[in-house]
Amino acid sequence: MKKEYIDLHLHTNASDGLFTPEETVKYALKMNLLAIAVTDHDTVDGFVAARMYAEGSDLEVYPGVELSCMYRGYDVHVLGYLIDYTNPEFVKKIEIFRKERYKRGEAMVGKLNDLGINLSMETVKSIAGNSAVGRPHLADALLREEFVQTYDEAFARYLGYHAPAYVPKPVLTPEHGIDLIHLVRGVAVLAHPGTLNHDEFVPDLVGMGLDGIEAYHSLHDRSTVQKYKNMAKKYGLVYTGGSDCHGPRKGKALMGSQKVPYSCLIDLKRVKEQR
Ligand code: AMP
Ligand code: FE
Ligand code: FE
Ligand code: ZN
Repeated sequence: MKKEYIDLHLHTNASDGLFTPEETVKYALKMNLLAIAVTDHDTVDGFVAARMYAEGSDLEVYPGVELSCMYRGYDVHVLGYLIDYTNPEFVKKIEIFRKERYKRGEAMVGKLNDLGINLSMETVKSIAGNSAVGRPHLADALLREEFVQTYDEAFARYLGYHAPAYVPKPVLTPEHGIDLIHLVRGVAVLAHPGTLNHDEFVPDLVGMGLDGIEAYHSLHDRSTVQKYKNMAKKYGLVYTGGSDCHGPRKGKALMGSQKVPYSCLIDLKRVKEQR
């Protein structure tokens, strides 16, 4: 089978995905992908390991990161592609973000305890290991300890944005997020705008230096993909795409489910070179 497609939005177990970097590479090869970008939250450890595992295969592995920014009270995710991931200032910064994620995990466990849910941070740690702690780890812990019956119930009852154990992350503005990506010569792309559902933010983000919009995404239907491709063109941005695979947490892994053309990667490289 001729390889055609790529996946530019993947999480490994270095953040809140379930696949190890090695499993990520194996699955990408199984799905006949030409190229992947590893876009863990606040870490590049998964990317570094994945690229190593892919050596000698024909899979291209590119560096990425997903930053959670806060704009007008909403969680705006910004993807950074083709970043100079060894830059010491960048490394230090995302290490701080990971430490803040750990503290936030503790705060959410505290809130759960206040609600009478006897979950311990030890349990969360045994699931998260050294990864960037995220709500999915807490959801997995709640499920394992049978405080909930399903992964989704954990979000609906406790961890979702409007649920009682939710704790926001310390505020990172989109300006700072985009600047951090540009500092390491990366390309800044608005992640899953369809789930954000505030298209009026896009011109503001463009003013802050946004380079692209994620058009293909597992939570975007066909018309949404088209809408964001058109929006990218309107603002002179590139469009990208990926599955946002977090591994096989809820059935089959999503990797490769979005038919993202290789041209998206060429566009990202062009933006990087032209800056
Ligand atoms: P965090 O970065 O810790 O706020 O966690 C965000 C991650 O939690 C996202 O990448 C999703 O994988 C997951 N998530 C957020 N909201 C939900 C939800 N309502 N149901 C299931 N997963 C969710
Ligand atoms: Fe995630
Ligand atoms: Fe996201
Ligand atoms: Zn993601």
